[in-house]
Amino acid sequence: MALRKLVAGNWKMHGLSADLAEAKAIAEQSKDYPGVDVALCVPSILIERAARALPDFTIGAQDVHHAEKGAHTGCISVQMLHDAGASLTIVGHSERREAQRESDEEVKSKATAALSCGLAVILCVGESLEVRERGAAVETVVGQLDGSLPHVLSSETELAIAYEPIWAIGTGKIPTVDEIAEMHSAIRQRLRERFGADGDQVRILYGGSVKASNAVEIFAIADVDGALVGGASLKATDFIPIVAAA
Ligand code: PGA
Repeated sequence: MALRKLVAGNWKMHGLSADLAEAKAIAEQSKDYPGVDVALCVPSILIERAARALPDFTIGAQDVHHAEKGAHTGCISVQMLHDAGASLTIVGHSERREAQRESDEEVKSKATAALSCGLAVILCVGESLEVRERGAAVETVVGQLDGSLPHVLSSETELAIAYEPIWAIGTGKIPTVDEIAEMHSAIRQRLRERFGADGDQVRILYGGSVKASNAVEIFAIADVDGALVGGASLKATDFIPIVAAA
């Protein structure tokens, strides 16, 4: 049975308090699509304001530290995100894996900490162009999953996987339908191997240059259970048509 779709926006380092008007418009207009789960992962400093302004809407973070507290200057814990009103966090985005050199092991600790504290997780994986061109995309992504997946799923909250080919992020390029289908099916298979029948309940999102113009085609692919959307999530006029396509 097809899973309910999740369309999550990743604002990255975009958005000041004035932009909460866009978040409000997105939350309001999402109500027209009750069959789709919609979330916005905003910069951490906006979480509390966004969550307060939009109590019935899912506000997420873009990263979290695995430790509960301690000497970690500049970092934010799962408990702090909860306290601010987030109910979801992205972990392992390729921009962090690259710029902050986050390892699979670190991503796994973050996902484990978040899930054990009742925060839903979108765990990102994805290959570089060089890996795709040398024909090693599937094994690389499955390897990343093996290294980053938490040992157990939480019965209280949700783990979702976002397949985001690095070369498709912010570039306007996307993989072919067959490439997406092949990857999502390999991810599904690995989730089943790891979690048994529960692996079928883990949503697998596609991310990388999702727009209104390609969303219908992407959402029609087997095992695509939603999208993680960057650039096109900043404005309701770009984002809501993607939600509508789901
Ligand atoms: P994009 O970003 O939609 O702007 O390509 C997606 C992401 O990085 O999550």
